[in-house]
Amino acid sequence: MNGRTDERVNGYAGYNQGGENVRKRKLISVAALLAVAWAGFFIHACAAGPIFYDPARVGDISDVPRVRVGLSAGLRVERILFSVSGPYAITDGRGVLESGEQLEAAVSWDGGIRVNQLVSQDPIVRVTCGRDGDLAIGGVRYHGDVLIVADEDRQTRAPRVTLVNEVDLEDYLKGVVGKEMALSAGTEALKAQVIAARTYAMYESRHRTLSEIKGEKFDLYDDERSQVYGGMERETASARRLVDETRGLFVVWDGRLFKTYYSSTCGGHTEPARLILGGEAEDIPPLGGAACAYCEGSKYYRWTEAFSKAELAKKLFPERSDIKILGLRVTKRLPGGHATEVAVRLEGASREVVMSANDGFRRKVDPRRIRSTLWEEPIQESGDKIILTGRGWGHGAGLCQVGAYRMADAGKSAGEILEHYYPQAAVRKLY
Ligand SMILES: [Zn+2]
Repeated sequence: MNGRTDERVNGYAGYNQGGENVRKRKLISVAALLAVAWAGFFIHACAAGPIFYDPARVGDISDVPRVRVGLSAGLRVERILFSVSGPYAITDGRGVLESGEQLEAAVSWDGGIRVNQLVSQDPIVRVTCGRDGDLAIGGVRYHGDVLIVADEDRQTRAPRVTLVNEVDLEDYLKGVVGKEMALSAGTEALKAQVIAARTYAMYESRHRTLSEIKGEKFDLYDDERSQVYGGMERETASARRLVDETRGLFVVWDGRLFKTYYSSTCGGHTEPARLILGGEAEDIPPLGGAACAYCEGSKYYRWTEAFSKAELAKKLFPERSDIKILGLRVTKRLPGGHATEVAVRLEGASREVVMSANDGFRRKVDPRRIRSTLWEEPIQESGDKIILTGRGWGHGAGLCQVGAYRMADAGKSAGEILEHYYPQAAVRKLY
């Protein structure tokens, strides 16, 4: 994955090959060296816990990795076009299939991955671009190369192709900055966000979370499911500068990376990630939640939305036209105040219907209007309407973006912002 790992592997290979021709005494010294190295490793591993490879540990990160981003425009499609406006080479496991100066590619499945007249039986075909930024997909230019991956429709299992942009992590971040962040905000807040976004992407890539859990052939989506990434579409001089000035900086806790969640407006207190996002999130101090006095008074700090009871019934119980909702109340809350469970009172029913506040209620009703689950109680009723007043926008775990902007305005540095929202973590330069 990076230069240092390769060097170390090659070093061991050299030892083994040379072993036959060296004198016995030298062999013994090599054996002794390996024994010492093994003992050192063993003692170290014991001190650190069980012996297994932990992809979160930062010890072997020494260079910019490449990340694999699944492009939503090319996710499990029957056919897609892209172009390379410069030198290119098409390769699969057998080697170079074609190379040239200009490529207008039509990609589809045809008993294998078809690129124009070529058909490959390999699961991955790579198109390497000789000059960075020559790749264009759907009118958007991209850094790096494109991988065409054999995939299948999730419902019908029919064969499909997926386009994956393989790109240097630092170049990837330039395409995230303009999409995820308000570039008018203070520089230190933006730097904090770039560092969080870098850590998130590196964590996801090293853990291969999407391939392990969702069966995807890449490590990051280009939308809200991971981080919104627009290739070079919104890459500006200021986006490039923010990434360059924070190059190699990560948020590290206890010698390891963690998933640096962030959301728009926390509403006063961020929540423990495990409790609000579920089992996938780690239960560790930097994701344990923090008080936030900074987002108070911002645009989405407090919001009110009215819903007709009939509208709620239709969205929550679409298969039952006879249900009438009388009211609702929160039955479980997290330490920061976000509701996790809500009970709905129905006409003619002796018991309330209990559901999860986020997946069961908010997402079904309207996640754009119900911006968070941090609701004020009692939930107001007025005639045939239910009026929800809430605070914040987003899941409320990790860094509060609006809070970070305000901290920067108050003179805090990127490091101070990150250390506030990720308690006990620190910023470290890894390359
Ligand atoms: Zn906040």
